[in-house]
Amino acid sequence: MPLNILNYTHAQFVDAFRRRYGRAAHYSTAIYRQIMKTGAAAFGAMDLLAGCPELIRRLDADIIWSPGRLIQRVDDCGVIKFVTRLDDDLDIESVVIPMHRRNTVCVSSQVGCRMGCRFCRTGQMGLIRNLTPGEIVGQVFAARHRLGLDVRNVVFMGMGEPLDNLDNVLQAIRVLEDQRGLDIARRYITVSTVGLVDGIDRLARLADGPINLAVSLNAPADAIRSWIMPINRSNPMASLKAALLRYPLRKKGAFFVEYVLIEGLNDQREHASALARYLARLNVKLNLIAYNPTPESDLRAPSPEACERFHAWLLEEKVFVRRRGEKGGRIMAACGQLGGRRHLESNYAGSRTITQ
Ligand code: SAH
Ligand code: SF4
Repeated sequence: MPLNILNYTHAQFVDAFRRRYGRAAHYSTAIYRQIMKTGAAAFGAMDLLAGCPELIRRLDADIIWSPGRLIQRVDDCGVIKFVTRLDDDLDIESVVIPMHRRNTVCVSSQVGCRMGCRFCRTGQMGLIRNLTPGEIVGQVFAARHRLGLDVRNVVFMGMGEPLDNLDNVLQAIRVLEDQRGLDIARRYITVSTVGLVDGIDRLARLADGPINLAVSLNAPADAIRSWIMPINRSNPMASLKAALLRYPLRKKGAFFVEYVLIEGLNDQREHASALARYLARLNVKLNLIAYNPTPESDLRAPSPEACERFHAWLLEEKVFVRRRGEKGGRIMAACGQLGGRRHLESNYAGSRTITQ
């Protein structure tokens, strides 16, 4: 079995290396650092391994660090979406968004998603499979070392529900934050959830230290939320709020709450008031997102004026709110539009295919 370094923290790799090759940390540490910091290693050219031809042969055969095949990259106004083909020929999508001088990479945690939200393209695919920790880490690795981008923030807002693949997501976070590796500080990592109450509690329990949490709320009350997000039937808003109230935020930390505005459904004055009431007592930064129409759905995008109006109502209600830019919409890179490269190819002749 090959040893995929992207699955391991430094300490875990040292351990696995010792067990497999009987060699001291000195070797594995150098190899780990070199691959994670530069994106590659040529074992035959490493001074440390000179005089160990047998070990070099075994390492060449065993150690891999492939984030999958980068098969497509699409750029739009600074936003870059890239598609990775995994070993079993499934494709996943990731997006790099320039933000406040730091690039943020939006990673997928599953191929598809089984939460079935009505407005979300990924949801329409159903769940195909969970990503491994290495496949999640691979997206950040690829952005940094294959696309050459200085990525420092990671948000789990690509395809999939991270709390439905919690063990692998937690392991990926441990690898991402390892200072001897990709060194993404925990405070720059955010997990976004549809609002799985058990998942939020498990995240709080299993993560060693606070993890930034975003919740996709998208509705001011249960009736609307259950209609657009079926998971709300078993995880209603009151229990979601209770889970958030007991979630261990970092000091002075806040939740991010996503609210996708859909014309005629959740964009009226009374919705703004109900939303403000729901958010009371929670320390929240609300992101207002205009619904990006997806081909399979008949929901409608709000006009810019409707977004402006809703934003103003929330300010009146003293909610900390900002409108999220619609960068990347044209290339279907915006959130909720991840989920199918055939569609992307047929619509955007400007995209180019990468062969590696
Ligand atoms: N499953 C997690 C992580 C994916 S994040 C979650 O739902 O939070 C995907 C984000 O994009 C969510 O905040 C979701 O509300 C938003 N989204 C999904 N479909 C969208 C669409 N068509 N237009 C705008 N935002 C959308
Ligand atoms: Fe899954 Fe999130 Fe899309 Fe809902 S919004 S279907 S939870 S990816």
